Parts: sequence; C-alpha cells; structure tokens
Amino acid sequence: MAEWDASSQNGALEKNGLRRVAVMLPYPLGPYDYMAPAELNLVVGDYVVVPLGPREVLGVVWGKGQGDVAAKKMKPVAGRFDAPPMPDDHRRFIDWVAAYTLSPPGTVMRMSLTAPKALEPARPAVAFRRGALSPNLTLTAARRRVLDVLEERGTATAQELADAAGCGIAVVRGLADAGAVETVMLPPCYPASTFQPLDDRPTLSPDQALAAERLIARLGAGYSATLLDGVTGAGKTEVYFEAVAANIAAGRQTLVLLPEIALSAQLLERFAKRFGAMPALWHSDVGPAARRMTWRGVAEGKTKVVVGARSALFLPYPDLRLIVVDEEHESAFKQEDGVIYHARDMAVARAHLGGFPVVLVSATPSLESVVNAEVGRYERLYLPARHAGAALPKIGLIDLRREKPPARKFLSPVLNQAIAETLAAGEQALLFLNRRGYAPLTLCRTCGHRMQCPNCTAWLVEHRFQGLLRCHHCDHAEPIPSNCPQCDNVGSFAPCGPGVERISDEVAELFPDARVSLLASDMFQGFGGRGMALQEAIRQVRDHEVDIVIGTQIIAKGHHFPMLTLVGVVDADLGLTGGDLRASERTYQLLHQVAGRAGRAERPGRVLLQTYMPEHRVMQALADDQRDAFLAVESEERRAAAMPPFARLAALIVSGPDTAEVGQAARELARAAPRSDGIVVLGPAPAPLAMLRGLHRERLLLKARRDVPVQPLMAEWLGRVRVPANVRIQVDIDPYSFL
Ligand code: ADP
Ligand code: ZN
Repeated sequence: MAEWDASSQNGALEKNGLRRVAVMLPYPLGPYDYMAPAELNLVVGDYVVVPLGPREVLGVVWGKGQGDVAAKKMKPVAGRFDAPPMPDDHRRFIDWVAAYTLSPPGTVMRMSLTAPKALEPARPAVAFRRGALSPNLTLTAARRRVLDVLEERGTATAQELADAAGCGIAVVRGLADAGAVETVMLPPCYPASTFQPLDDRPTLSPDQALAAERLIARLGAGYSATLLDGVTGAGKTEVYFEAVAANIAAGRQTLVLLPEIALSAQLLERFAKRFGAMPALWHSDVGPAARRMTWRGVAEGKTKVVVGARSALFLPYPDLRLIVVDEEHESAFKQEDGVIYHARDMAVARAHLGGFPVVLVSATPSLESVVNAEVGRYERLYLPARHAGAALPKIGLIDLRREKPPARKFLSPVLNQAIAETLAAGEQALLFLNRRGYAPLTLCRTCGHRMQCPNCTAWLVEHRFQGLLRCHHCDHAEPIPSNCPQCDNVGSFAPCGPGVERISDEVAELFPDARVSLLASDMFQGFGGRGMALQEAIRQVRDHEVDIVIGTQIIAKGHHFPMLTLVGVVDADLGLTGGDLRASERTYQLLHQVAGRAGRAERPGRVLLQTYMPEHRVMQALADDQRDAFLAVESEERRAAAMPPFARLAALIVSGPDTAEVGQAARELARAAPRSDGIVVLGPAPAPLAMLRGLHRERLLLKARRDVPVQPLMAEWLGRVRVPANVRIQVDIDPYSFL
C-alpha cells in the first residue's frame, strides 16, 4: 500500500514534482500506478478514470505511485471527476476495514462507489417565479392558485407548484408559455441540508437530561464510545436526538445507523417532527435518483444527517462528527456476504479514526458492549424507567408440556383464552412466530420423503399463499407437487410444524369474527419489507383496523401500537436450538423486543411465551425481568469457555462445486494452520449448511486469546496454502453465523 506523506496530503501532487499516482480500483487488485497529467491537477482522493486493459474504469487516487514501474510503461490517468476528493479519514477507514476483515481494499472501496452518477455535479433544479401578467391571460382557478403559491413562496419547482395548488404540471407549463411565470435555476437541493429548530421538543426527565448532557459534552471532544442503555420506551431516542440536534447546530455531519428492518416510517416521521426536515435515507431500496443526491450531498458536506443501514458507513463524509448505532445488539448489522463486517464494530473504528464520539443504543445491549462498558472501554449511560411511568408488560410462561395445544395445532388453551379476553376488551393481540411460510417441512405421509432444496442442505418451506415450496437459503422455488417425487402417491403431503401462515389458519378457525393481519417479509416482496404495502399494513394495525396480528420479526421492532395489549410468542424456544454461541443472548434480545410491543400506551400489556423449556435461564430471565443477572451468567459461561467477547474467533469457509476439492483444500488449510500459544484451530468440518446454492462447504474456526493479533496470523496462514481456482475461501473475522 502506498504510504502518503502527510505534509503533501490534499496538496496538488504536481507541487512536489510528483508525476505518478497510485490509483485504487474497485476490484480485488491494485492499487496500480498511473501517470498524472499535469493539467489534471490531481490531489489525493480524487475520483478518476483510468485505463485498465482494454477498458476505462473508475478509481480513486490513493497516494503517490510506488515507483516500481518504468515510466514508459505507465498509462496516464484519463480524466478526473468534478467531485470533492474522498476525504482522508474515509480512505483511512477503507484501508482499516480492509486490513481488519482481510479483504482487498479495492473491494471495500467499491462499497463507497455505489452511486457513480453522483460523481458528476448535480444539475441545478429548474424552478419558477412570477413573471409579468399579460392582460390577455385567462385566469382559471387553478392558474390563480399556482400564482398564489408563488406569491407566497417566491420560487418553487413545477412539481411543488402542482402539489401545492392541487393541479397538473400542465397548468404550470401553460403559465410559463404565457410568460406569467418565468424559469429560474436553483442550486441543487440536497437532502437533509437545512433544518428548522423546533420549539415543541419534549421536556426531558432529569435522568434523560443528564444522559443528553453527557452525550452533548462528548461532541467535539475527540473519540469516545458510549453505551446508552435503558428499557424500551425509556426515551433513548429522545436523548440521542438531543446530541444529533447539537451536532446539527454545530454544522457537522451525523450518521444514525439502524438495522435495515428497523428503518421504519415511524422513526422518520418522528425525526422529521423533531428536526423540521427528513434525514437523508440510505439503504438497499433507495432509488437511483435519491441515491445520487444523497451521495453527492454527503460528499459535499451539505447533507448533515444520514439515517441508514450498515452501507451508510461507506458514504464519503468530509465532516462526520457523530455516529449513533441504534439497536446496536442486532445481528442484522453483520454483513454476511462480500466484505464480511459488523457495522457496529466498524462504526466504532470509524469514530476512532475520525476522532469523534460514537453512541451505541439498545434496551438489550450485546454482551460485547456490556463487557466493553464494564472494563471501561465504553462509558455507560443508563435510563432506568419507561417514560411517564408506563408499566413494562408482565411476561408469563406457558409450559407446553402441560398446556398442550390440540393435535396439529400450535396455540395452547391458555393463550387462546388470553386472546379471547383481549378481543373482548376491545384491544389487540400480536402472535409472534419468527418463521415465514406455512410449514417449515413438508413430508410424504406414505413413504416419509421430505421435500428438500436441490441446491442447499435445507428443507423446502411451504408458502401456501404463493402456492410454492421455497428454500429460505437460495432463490429456489417450485410449485407444490401433486405426487410424491419418491413414491408417486397422490395427495400424501403433510405439513410439519408451524409457520405464520399456518397460525393464521388456526386463528381464523378459533376467532372467525376477528380481523386478522399477517405480516411477514415475503408478503411484501418487491418492497424490501418497507414499501407502501407494509406501511399500509402497519397503519391498519396502529389505527385498530385489525384485531389480531400474526407476524415474524418484521413486526417486532420499533413500532408503537397503542391498542396492542397482548403478545403471544408461539414458539419461544425457536432460536435456542442449533448450538449457536449467541443463541441464548439472541433469544433473550428478540423476545424482549417483541414483548416490548405490548402495552406501550396507557393500557398495561401482558406477554405469554409458549415454551417446552420454562426452566431455561432465558425464559426465567424474561419472566423475572432479570436482564443483568442473565447477562452476568452468560458472561461467566463465555469467559469459562474462552469464547467472545473474552476471546477472538475467525472462521474460514471453504466452498466450491466439487466436494472432493473442497475437502482437500480444507484439509490442507488445517495442516498449514498456525500453531502457537493462545490459538486453537478447530475443523475442518462440513458446515451445518453443507451445501449452499449448489456449493459444498467446509468450515474451520480459529480461536485466539484476545491479545493475539489475529489478522496477520490469518494472512500468513492463507498465504501458505494454494487452492484450486474453483475453490473459494471466505474469511469471517468475529463470526456471528456458524451455518
Ligand atoms: P426508547 O428509544 O428508549 O425506546 P423513546 O425515545 O422512543 O424510547 O421514547 C418512548 C416514547 O416516550 C416516545 O413516544 C417518546 O416521544 C416519549 N417520550 C420519551 N421521553 C419523553 C419526554 N421527556 N417527554 C415526553 N415524551 C417522551
Ligand atoms: Zn436452497
């Protein structure tokens, strides 16, 4: 990697007589040296176009050239984009993420180039202002409204005028043709670039005010990490909004990271209410136009607040001074393909590199963060109570060994009774089951054949509404066959186990008059789970147009339903099987979160967990509201087992189309494994998902003491082993998935 002398950073390279630059390309290669034509006036961070073989590709000037290529052989940079150079901090961040995750820096940088159109300056917007009124102008009512709007606002775009005057754009055009309005060019309007200070902010409770004060005091005072902890509804969002407001007032940039699923309209509305403008949004479903304006607005330093999913970390902020990671415990922050990284951890690294505060927010913080707070790496701020004394819901356990549901049914009589009482009181119930589809397994009653995915080690899940069997690990879907593929018997398939669709059938039988809504991400395909349809479904729940909601975790987070007073968890044990290191912790977090949907308003809520393991410590901790005691036990167990956060893990996933080649490569990796004090290498072993998308998979796991620098070890290890071209090795530092 080219080391760039700090004194010349951001200076024109030519000033020092430099004529070669190292250009990072968005591929797993390079950086490569190029000649820098003097007239381009290149500076470090510039976005450039360079020749690569027969093509021209986009790249970023990463520093001065390494100088080991003869000048004659070097090709010149072909062009420079008129865009603010990628900030130093951001380039250092990319290099840091690459080094941490053992990914090529070009591949990491690629995550910053997801809106290439934004490299062209944004076009000015065409707007209108009032022109001369000719006496011959026919003044229709619509035309008059348009002129009135302009009178009031001075300038507005055609769309704004049409919206405000309640007419079509043609009316505006007609006025323009008649000279009654004239066009003006406005500078591009970047999202979240202006905010109005709002007066009707809530008055914070003393605890809240203290926490807000502490966060605000951290702004501008270098790097710090704070864990903002407190039950759902304690006002954590209100508190971090105060810090965001202070950062806005200082004119600096803020990033609020949320797990994709929690990017709800409700939070945005709340944000807009508090700050008088929407934040810029960044997630996988943002369309190209908004993406372009946001990227450019961020790069120009004009867009002040971004609320986004993990990819928002890779926008090129020139002046980022605060990151908030809301729901910091969420495993959705872990990106599992491409560059495998944990956005919460990378956010902390980004704050460290940039020298500014990061705030991690959760009602059920991860053990990692709790331990970091205990040892003093993070400051902990705790909000003890729900705002205005709203009661936390009471959590009860239903022992399924005694309270048996009827045959082939999944709701126990106790739960049904509670639902009936809730409906009778004119309130709403939520039945939670984190499993999409009708049934997780379809089996032939005659021969026992199980319908399996042809590409993955996984059963096919029946989706009855779609009439399909689907794999939840790949895109495979097939119609439900009429004959068993093995014994050819007709109509002998039986569903095994429940999915939300099946619960919905059961509820329809039990409560035929209730209005039922089924909420699962596959019900809203094409909207990325956040689209209009889902928002509409959520509105119906909020406005009490629905009596019983049946949902997956799509409904578990962030929503506020005033009339929802009962939460029934159909299978509380679901996440506990499978031997995941964090199974208990995650189950606790998820169920606690779901429980938080009950009784958010004045009406007290209750929560019933159906379980076969009522004595399990997760169930006990939930029922007795003993989070900290639970975390303490969990922490002790992890310490005793030398597992994270008390040790480091790194996984290698070896995959390929040929099982023998994969096995061979995995064994060679094991033979070449580093051997020294403080490390153990486990495996290879076939992955639980031994086949995924048609590729065979084996896993190795390196476990190291916390003080062992894992990355150099891994890099050296991988460097010792040659694998065939169609065997792939993925490195997963700090793995969260063990499938
Ligand atoms: P959390 O983020 O901890 O779950 P929120 O910040 O969302 O909590 O607060 C829960 C609810 O209580 C929200 O509707 C919020 O507006 C309200 N609230 C919190 N603190 C106050 C306050 N000091 N005054 C008025 N309303 C508040
Ligand atoms: Zn599959």
